[in-house]
Amino acid sequence: MCDDRRVNRAGQIALPFDALQAPAELAAVAAVPTDASLAPLYFVRHRRARRYLLRVDPDGRLRITIPRGGSKREAEAFAARNVGWIAGQRARIHPATMAIGERIELRAQAVEELPGRLRDLAAAHGVEGLTRVSIRNQRTRWGSCGRDGHITLNWRLVIMPPAVRDYVLIHELMHLRRMDHSPAYWRLVEQACPDFAAARAWLRVNGRTLR
Ligand SMILES: [Zn+2]
Repeated sequence: MCDDRRVNRAGQIALPFDALQAPAELAAVAAVPTDASLAPLYFVRHRRARRYLLRVDPDGRLRITIPRGGSKREAEAFAARNVGWIAGQRARIHPATMAIGERIELRAQAVEELPGRLRDLAAAHGVEGLTRVSIRNQRTRWGSCGRDGHITLNWRLVIMPPAVRDYVLIHELMHLRRMDHSPAYWRLVEQACPDFAAARAWLRVNGRTLR
């Protein structure tokens, strides 16, 4: 997930295709994204762009550059995969805005989405023993699992790329099988989430910004 990501000096994020040529803006269209956590955003078409680009304007709006031959749908999907980076950029620009508006919205989204996703993953991997799910505003961790089967999740998981979020959920679910971080435990994680190393690397790089 984070491997195909590159942030340049201008604070832009891009798919690692060819280098972006000189800007030639054809159109800038404000848009309502299907993923609410991306708003506000607008699209810009660059005739000579060779890749999708993300930039957060000083006013907090996300600008998504669409290369020739690209689509809004693909552009939005690209942005959705980098929603953590976007939130981090916005938090840096407008900490207060993030604190009040976006936080409340994202927490509500977390309460709505995370428990269902956790139960789906438990069912998919045949994990039993989950008794309760809570969404919390944890400072120091992304999730925890109690011996009573109570899993607690950090609401910030909703602003991570889906693959990273799923890794955290699987990490906690596998503690229902083993309450340690032994090699046997990590083998369980790997079976359910083969890309877990990439997800952990993403958390190491981006985790602090998200908090
Ligand atoms: Zn753990």
